[in-house]
Amino acid sequence: MSDASQTNQPARLQRITMAGTIFLLLTLFVTVGFMLYRNELVENLRNKQALYLDLVEFREKITTEGTGAVPQKSAKVMQFMLGKVLESAEAAGEKEISGALIQKRGGLQPFADADREIFLLALDNSIGKAETEVHRALDACIRISNIFVMTVLVLFILLITGSWREFYRTYTMTLIPLSRLSEKIGTINRCIPESIHETAEDIRNDLTLSPHSRDICRITDTMAEFCMDIEAKNKKLDELHIRDEKTNLYNYRHFKEHLIMEIERSKRAGDMVSIAMIDIDHFKQYNDEHGHVAGDRVLAQLAGIISSQCRTSDMPSRFGGEEFAVLFPRTDHETTLQISERLRMIICAEPVAHEKHQPEGRLTVSIGIATFPGDAPDWYTLVNNADRALYRAKSAGRNRVCAFSAIRNGEEGK
Ligand code: GH3
Ligand code: MG
Ligand code: MG
Repeated sequence: MSDASQTNQPARLQRITMAGTIFLLLTLFVTVGFMLYRNELVENLRNKQALYLDLVEFREKITTEGTGAVPQKSAKVMQFMLGKVLESAEAAGEKEISGALIQKRGGLQPFADADREIFLLALDNSIGKAETEVHRALDACIRISNIFVMTVLVLFILLITGSWREFYRTYTMTLIPLSRLSEKIGTINRCIPESIHETAEDIRNDLTLSPHSRDICRITDTMAEFCMDIEAKNKKLDELHIRDEKTNLYNYRHFKEHLIMEIERSKRAGDMVSIAMIDIDHFKQYNDEHGHVAGDRVLAQLAGIISSQCRTSDMPSRFGGEEFAVLFPRTDHETTLQISERLRMIICAEPVAHEKHQPEGRLTVSIGIATFPGDAPDWYTLVNNADRALYRAKSAGRNRVCAFSAIRNGEEGK
């Protein structure tokens, strides 16, 4: 699998968590900053509004009093109002306005004199300025509120986009491959496939096509290893199923299955199938004298000789007890006779432990052979007739090969 298509999930998760934390802190910081600044602007707006209202009120009072002598009480009120205006101008940071008013009044003098009109003009000028300042402060408040809303909107869009990207990534790189894996596991669970090795490769190839996280890769590898392990164990089981434990030759079940198949094949192909039944001579005596462990060693030794004399296409098997059976596919009677004779001679000449105590002073075998279709019409009769030929070899003195055709010819000759 290509490294480019994989990402390390824990490291990635750590990065995402860090980015998320930074993002949240930034949002918090920006929000607090905006709130503080906005409060300051609102406070400024309030001060400017207060100044504007005080100025308007003050002007109204002067206008109401009219020209001429102002009563003592009203003059005091107006002086108090002027003081308030000056205080508001101070609070609103409008030193220019307070300066101009003080200058025009020449201090806190009564207002009903000749300068009244000029003072009113200066007052109107200040009211105009204060109104403009109120509008400016209001604009600043609206502007900062708009910027705040826009910033929150941008952060929100960033958050949504980031979350969507992360969700999409997790979905395509983890959830989809995981669902594919679980499908495969489900298939394996329902019926173990013929080649579990190919299934493991399938799973790997399937995931190579799409991007996926490293965790998925690890799960896939574990599954592939699991499949390989099952395959290896299956092979071992298969071997155990078809092999004989003592001799490591094929067992009777496997021999029979192949004999049936070969006979069916030869029926279609119109050729021959031969078998040889091999029995160790006086083996009971050997066991009785030297024990079954020594006897087992002889069985394994003879199995090795039989295997070595067979062609790749032949099937040497243990028939049962001290008897062996060899299947010769596509082999006629003559060739089978030659192979069997050679085998008998090799066994006879091979040194075997304690063989001197055998009746003939050596360990020998008797062999019976039969060929399909000449000697039998089916597998069962073929085995039976090879067995009959073996008994004939025994009764004729052992250490020899006897063909069923010879028995049949003899019977037909009678
Ligand atoms: P024959 O020449 O007529 O074949 O005589 P035999 O003694 O070989 O034949 P018999 O049928 O009387 O005895 C077969 C012997 O094979 C009996 C048994 O001790 C031996 N045998 C069968 N299976 C095994 C085995 O798995 N291991 C060993 N060690 N001996 C076995
Ligand atoms: Mg026997
Ligand atoms: Mg025997």
